[in-house]
Amino acid sequence: MSLRLYNTLTRSLEAFKPITPGKAGVYACGPTVYWFAHIGNFRYFIFSDLLHRVLKESGLDTTFIMNITDVGHLVGDGDDGEDKMMKAMRKEGKSAAEIAFFYTRAFVKDLLRLNILPADKYPRATEHIPEQVAMVKQLEANGFTYKTSDGIYFDTSKLPAYGKLSGQKSDEKQAGIRIDMGEKKNPTDFALWKFSPTDQQREMEWPSPWGVGFPGWHLECSAMAQKYLGVPFDIHTGGVDHIAVHHENEIAQTEGASGKLEANVWLHSEFLTVDGGKMSKSIGNVYTIQDLIDKGYDPIAYRYFCLQGHYRSILNFTWEGLTAAQNALNKLRQIVRDWSEPDPLATAVMHTTFMLDINNDLNTPGALRTMWQLVDDDSISSLEKTKWLVDYDRILGLGLADYIGKKIEIPKAVQDLVNERDQARARKDFVMSDELRMKLEGMGWVVKDTKEGTKVEK
Ligand code: AMP
Ligand code: ZN
Repeated sequence: MSLRLYNTLTRSLEAFKPITPGKAGVYACGPTVYWFAHIGNFRYFIFSDLLHRVLKESGLDTTFIMNITDVGHLVGDGDDGEDKMMKAMRKEGKSAAEIAFFYTRAFVKDLLRLNILPADKYPRATEHIPEQVAMVKQLEANGFTYKTSDGIYFDTSKLPAYGKLSGQKSDEKQAGIRIDMGEKKNPTDFALWKFSPTDQQREMEWPSPWGVGFPGWHLECSAMAQKYLGVPFDIHTGGVDHIAVHHENEIAQTEGASGKLEANVWLHSEFLTVDGGKMSKSIGNVYTIQDLIDKGYDPIAYRYFCLQGHYRSILNFTWEGLTAAQNALNKLRQIVRDWSEPDPLATAVMHTTFMLDINNDLNTPGALRTMWQLVDDDSISSLEKTKWLVDYDRILGLGLADYIGKKIEIPKAVQDLVNERDQARARKDFVMSDELRMKLEGMGWVVKDTKEGTKVEK
């Protein structure tokens, strides 16, 4: 069974063929650590984790690299606006290093909360300035650069293949959108190295053959991917917003410097919307994982919520939707608590339908349906179910192994109230029965009426 993935570069579903048999190199664009990553960002990070898990599960020896952007990502989409890190420094009155340290820690904490597997390396842009300068030098030697008063730019008209990822040519890009060309020769040209403003000192600036300054945002990814994976490597991921500019420019830099395609397969996950629209600070709907926790949700419920949508479809977040995901997850955990503990020797055997969906461009909605079919099938023994579910969860990452066979101990005081309630119901004393229900609920138990009488769950 081969893994098929939708490659943005070829606009088609392709069977995944590693460059080196048995191995897979992945570069996932990481966070800009100027603020907390929000739930939209985490939809993307959950998607890259899914890919990471599926490749490992396919038996491939993976090298998974995720960069940490701590310089050069400007507020504007062109090469304009303030550096996001500098803006945060001004707002919080801290140094760039302090901002990066704080938000990188917060990011890692959220990764752990969401059961996201660690990357093999999280290279930082500021720790790879020599590699980035070397790449600009190579591009200069190959005739792809020019100098303006504010930096060294990449001349996209010199690379005939420019635009192959988004299908746009260098002169037609952003048609209809007025962009400030400044001294740029072509609308799609972009900064490789920006000079520090002469009137003020930047905290983050480095010497270079062209003058003191800092690298452009796209450069770090090309330089660090090349350093840690070599080019071409297998898979590059990002959100769909990266297709037209960031990834197009990464491809151009790598191709201009090395003459090689950066990565064979390009995967892009769609956006998360909130209440049907864009997330925005002004509406106040830019939620973090901590916001979900503060409202009483389990971060894994958010992971479950994301898995319910295919990564190439827009997913709309609502609190009702998250509540439904939390309920489904709770139900699943409750069911598996009644199963037998897993046989530690059970070998990992993949269920055909489940893997068919996963291998079909990471179809998680289909995979979740198969998982529920298994869980709800009364003809399969719990031991057998356990074996399958543990296999599935190595890909889904819902952390279900912690729940299988872990029945909740009901304290004697609670059991006494349950018995009392059953007796009240037998005498049809519904006032007493309701009172006891409220008492149990007040103690944090969910009370259910079943054929066998009162049942309590946590
Ligand atoms: P940034 O920290 O801004 O570089 O973004 C990190 C990743 O999150 C990028 O790959 C973006 O494409 C992705 N991203 C940003 N906003 C959203 C969103 N609303 N939904 C899904 N992914 C997003
Ligand atoms: Zn990137």
